[in-house]
Amino acid sequence: MLAVWLLQPLVALLVLPYNSWALVDPQSVHDDLESLLSPGAEVALRSNSTYAEDFTPRYNIATQPSYIVGVKPALVGDVQKVVIYAVERNISFLATGGGHGYSTSLGRFKGGIDMDLGKFNSIQVDSLAKTMTIGGAVRANEVATALQAVGMEIPVPQCPCIGFAGATLGGGIGPYSGLYGAISDSLISVELITAEGQVLNVSQTEYADLLYGIKGAGSNYGVVLSLKYRIYPATNDGYAMNADMTFLGSQNGSVWALIKQFSVSQPRELSIGISIRYSPDPTLEGVIITANFIYAGPQAEGKALIQPFINLKPLNVNISTVPWNYIPATANDGAIVEYGCSPGVYYVPYGVNLYQVDIPNLVSSVGYMDRAMATNPELRGASIVWQQYAHYGFQLYSQDTSAFPFRDVIAFVQVDGVGSSASQGLALTQFGREMRDMLQNGSGRDELSVFVHFGHGDEDPAAWFSRDNLPRLMSLKNVYDPLGIFSWYNPVKRY
Ligand SMILES: Cc1cc2nc3c(=O)[nH]c(=O)nc-3n(C[C@H](O)[C@H](O)[C@H](O)COP(=O)(O)OP(=O)(O)OC[C@H]3O[C@@H](n4cnc5c(N)ncnc54)[C@H](O)[C@@H]3O)c2cc1C
Repeated sequence: MLAVWLLQPLVALLVLPYNSWALVDPQSVHDDLESLLSPGAEVALRSNSTYAEDFTPRYNIATQPSYIVGVKPALVGDVQKVVIYAVERNISFLATGGGHGYSTSLGRFKGGIDMDLGKFNSIQVDSLAKTMTIGGAVRANEVATALQAVGMEIPVPQCPCIGFAGATLGGGIGPYSGLYGAISDSLISVELITAEGQVLNVSQTEYADLLYGIKGAGSNYGVVLSLKYRIYPATNDGYAMNADMTFLGSQNGSVWALIKQFSVSQPRELSIGISIRYSPDPTLEGVIITANFIYAGPQAEGKALIQPFINLKPLNVNISTVPWNYIPATANDGAIVEYGCSPGVYYVPYGVNLYQVDIPNLVSSVGYMDRAMATNPELRGASIVWQQYAHYGFQLYSQDTSAFPFRDVIAFVQVDGVGSSASQGLALTQFGREMRDMLQNGSGRDELSVFVHFGHGDEDPAAWFSRDNLPRLMSLKNVYDPLGIFSWYNPVKRY
């Protein structure tokens, strides 16, 4: 440990964050880790086929981290050893949960250790105490399935395959956020390994300031091995309405008018998802709009609420009642599972939060998208994705309780660019930036604000964490990670 602290000032002067890949021999790192760790741990050279078979693949391959060695620790002590080993030798390392983090900021990570937390996969549910404790690599669908089995619930993200811890560390949002807020609002405590290899039990009674930072900016402060949450008795006996419908692009003004009405009076049980994309069907003439409605209540009630959308005469309507944990598999006619759970996507992400529904701006943005896609086929893999939740759940918690700053957002919007090559990536990058700028102009805010998980990676940290939160988050960074070891994913401080 002493060696670490003696080295720190020198290393800090030379290179931040940690990364000395050019000097590192992968085989030595592999052999060192193998001899250090418990028999249950797994170590593989990145170049070895075992790595491709056993380690968590990346969702986004356009700008992914590059590794020399993968390690799957089996015990808390293994994680401590990897951290201390890597810090002492100035080798960068990155925790992997579900592998779905897609910010381009991760592409700065080159030649270090992939610390795959895949063996931290336990789920314990205590229905009496209304708590759940999970390992750092548990997936969203595993949480939903475990809670559904015992008649409980919690907000889960739309995509079932993402790491539940990974989502929580950035706040995390999903269809039941209207009822309960961000996923991180339900977080009670975590077990965290610091950059010094210390184990901290972080809760409201110990390290309360760090808990505030972990709820929204969590990937900045350490490796999280277990997380304890409040859980809630299932709404409507664990069943929800799912409704999908498709509109012509030319109907977008009418759709936005209804969206605007809902934005001021959205029932907490209702979540709305809108997706605008190019349709390969030439009879539909350009972009189409798919709308998804999830209602945590009886189907008749939900259907009555969304009747104004049905009155617009969509091209199709598909309404069903499903167990709460099947929502991600059912919503958008199953498209989320199909596209969100298949890693290896060439993905160019952009995002922007909207604080109002500016109909003229939205109509002109959709018109721009339609024209751009008509003339440039390389852009046809792009879509605008809109998630709108009631404010009720978010406003159960005051702003100073966590680093998640988006309690008054009307819509969390993504401009998803999916391509297959670097040249297409350039076109999608330009398009994504233009769309982000256009939408930002009608956002109701002077400065860009983006849900940290939907960020491209080029934003100012104030866009992800808010200007109000940043000073407190930077102070925490100075205390718990002064060398910037945990600064690869949309960091609070740029190095
Ligand atoms: C298709 C798709 C749909 C999505 N839908 C939603 C949604 O509906 N709602 C939502 O909130 N988000 C959504 N996201 C975003 C998602 O929450 C983030 O990408 C999140 O970072 C994914 O976590 P992960 O563990 O899967 O990814 P990783 O790539 O494994 O991790 C992302 C970052 O978090 C860090 N990290 C992960 N786990 C730990 C841990 N245990 N300890 C310390 N650091 C850790 C990693 O080091 C990395 O820096 C979606 C993403 C995709 C690709």
